[in-house]
Amino acid sequence: MTGAEPGLMPSQVLSANRPDCDFPLNNLPYGVFSDDRGPRCGVAIGDRILDLAACEAQGLLDAGGTFAAPRMNDFIARGPDAWAAARARLTALLSPDGPRDLPLVAMAGARLHLPIRVEGFTDFYASRHHAFNVGCLFRGPDNALPPQWDHMPIGYNGRASSVMVSGTPVYRPMGQVAGPAGPEWTASRRLDLELELGAIVGAATALGTRITVDQAEDMIFGHVLLNDWSARDIQAWEYQPLGPFQGKAFATTISPWIVTRAALEPFRRAGAARTVDPMPHLRDSRPGFHDLAMGWTLNGQVMARVNYAVMHWSQAQALAHHASSGCPMNVGDLLGSGTISGPTPDQTGALLEMTRNGQQPVTVNGQPRTFLQDGDEVGLFAHAQGAGYRVGFGPCTGRVMPALP
Ligand code: CA
Repeated sequence: MTGAEPGLMPSQVLSANRPDCDFPLNNLPYGVFSDDRGPRCGVAIGDRILDLAACEAQGLLDAGGTFAAPRMNDFIARGPDAWAAARARLTALLSPDGPRDLPLVAMAGARLHLPIRVEGFTDFYASRHHAFNVGCLFRGPDNALPPQWDHMPIGYNGRASSVMVSGTPVYRPMGQVAGPAGPEWTASRRLDLELELGAIVGAATALGTRITVDQAEDMIFGHVLLNDWSARDIQAWEYQPLGPFQGKAFATTISPWIVTRAALEPFRRAGAARTVDPMPHLRDSRPGFHDLAMGWTLNGQVMARVNYAVMHWSQAQALAHHASSGCPMNVGDLLGSGTISGPTPDQTGALLEMTRNGQQPVTVNGQPRTFLQDGDEVGLFAHAQGAGYRVGFGPCTGRVMPALP
């Protein structure tokens, strides 16, 4: 935490002032919700949602009509000055001195939707512990990290079409896997989760335009929790030499609320120490990480806790690297951090690592477990801890369903 941490900012919504509430006035995460009316943009405050479309219609704030849309992209595309103006206005409206007749709806009675139209999804591999642990399982400790790992954020182009909001069922994928007598077509037997932080790109770059890491910092609108569901048996058979494909393509779950970069700013901190000086286009001038206590649950049991600041490559570095070839970036692009893992098994963000590729079962509610079973529910969680309050992400859950016939 930096010295700028302001303490709880009280709200007229009293449930927002509880120290264990994920959504105090300090947070103001954006999402898309519906109730008896259709999907529109809102901001979470305590156990309520402020209806931003209604606020605009009543003249309480002005975002060019973008909050009436069923996705956040149009508002995000208005740019950093509009983000700051909206945050300042919402802070005033929801403060104890704000108007009393705000259009607030109960979160418990609302349905939450995918908050953005995901333009592209790219996933990285930015935890040294995760990369090392997985590399040890398949290549041994001497060759665990590939030679480029210290020099750039390794990534692959994932699928935007299967990014889904928390609570959406996850069907076990069918796929081709290696068997003792040759390849088999089967429902995955090694279904796994990956605990990640997603970054939502809030500004576009033109074809052929490179950006610095500092510019990339200012282009990130906010963050979501992200579960990069992975079928390890499909992945193991298909991934060489072009990387993950169907083993990752079937589902990615994100949390419904976008926690803005502005809300996390007091919690900015440095990541893991680097032993290799990055190339100029990957150098940063600010600490690029946040002090986020994260973890995941399986059927309600906490399986791992880890701090996001264990990571090696920041999401701004990943974004600068992504654009470094001249690849255009779009508003609504989603970047996954890569699995967030610390040095010990109880800090690992995937069952692959935690069970050492299924060789060391873990106990979940009294049952031995290696990979995910049908009916299992995985939950991710994260918050930044302030003095007497926290900036949280809310739930990010998904239940595993049997493979579709
Ligand atoms: Ca991943």
